[in-house]
Amino acid sequence: MRLITLQRNADPKRIKELLREKGLWIKTFESGKTQCFLIEPHSTFVPRDQILAIPGVKEVLETSSAHPLMDTQSSQIQIGKKTLGLGKTPIFLAGPCSIESEEQIFLLAQKLSQIGVSFLRGGAFKPRTSPYAFQGNGKQALRWLRQAADAEKLLTVTEVLDTQDVEDVAEVADLIQIGTRNMYNYALLKRVGETKKPVLLKRGFSATVEEWLCSAEYCLLHGSPTVVLCERGIRSFDKATRNVLDVGTVALLAHEKRLPVIVDPSHAAGRRDLIAPLSKAAIAAGACGLMIETHLDPGSALSDGPQALQPDSLALLIQSIVKEPDSFYPSMSFPRK
Ligand code: PEP
Ligand code: MN
Repeated sequence: MRLITLQRNADPKRIKELLREKGLWIKTFESGKTQCFLIEPHSTFVPRDQILAIPGVKEVLETSSAHPLMDTQSSQIQIGKKTLGLGKTPIFLAGPCSIESEEQIFLLAQKLSQIGVSFLRGGAFKPRTSPYAFQGNGKQALRWLRQAADAEKLLTVTEVLDTQDVEDVAEVADLIQIGTRNMYNYALLKRVGETKKPVLLKRGFSATVEEWLCSAEYCLLHGSPTVVLCERGIRSFDKATRNVLDVGTVALLAHEKRLPVIVDPSHAAGRRDLIAPLSKAAIAAGACGLMIETHLDPGSALSDGPQALQPDSLALLIQSIVKEPDSFYPSMSFPRK
């Protein structure tokens, strides 16, 4: 695959026209603040010098990577008024596993907005292993989530399970979550891409990093402005914890690939007493944020109660992380601002 970068004062519209006249199929995307073009593989072959001869073209890069858009994604991302990514103060996404009632999500939003959380999370459509388990409150819960977040000036993140719900979810979500079970659902990835909303892509519980990056590429190729990766634990032979948090991969993505990664210690651990140590390990490894399930009364939660923190415990954890995130990893290659 080939990528074209443009000079700073270039006219992207004109260059695109000239490239199309040569028989090239072009996809435009942003890398940092500059526009780039991806030459789609089914294009006519045009020699490199002919492309370089077009005024305004800076470079033609050849890549054998299966995820060139993901490779060039910026290491800092803006969603609403919030910037997240490498070198930024870690961000927090918190809320219940499932949105159980209007009252519940409003009360939680109020508490979470006071302790430094920026995204209110909550599932309206729940992917449950048992078909008899609580499946979520559906569309009405989407509405409650948006209203609760707006009342407290929070951003929202919520999961879409099915292509038929993509529009409804996109209407209320600032960040559309794709869950671990759907990382390989290419039809869903494409539809979510078409909404042009930022995506939080959870890692499939047995997905390789390459498969994960390729799934992110589906979203970018089909229109998503950005994809934030979310490590939530992978399966192992050992059931001592619910999943195994792969901090090695978090470090690899952050330090080598320079990509923003959010860690979800809740689904990794499956138990609340391990959330704080795993959160600190995640930040030390290079995560730019944490998604943590939070409930006012975890004992009565309709899903994932054992791994939910109460807002007071979350407040203490946030304090200990934002005070000095770099103290977990003094030689961090991206000092935080
Ligand atoms: C969730 O975030 O509530 C969830 C279902 O997560 P996962 O897809 O990681 O299991
Ligand atoms: Mn959950």
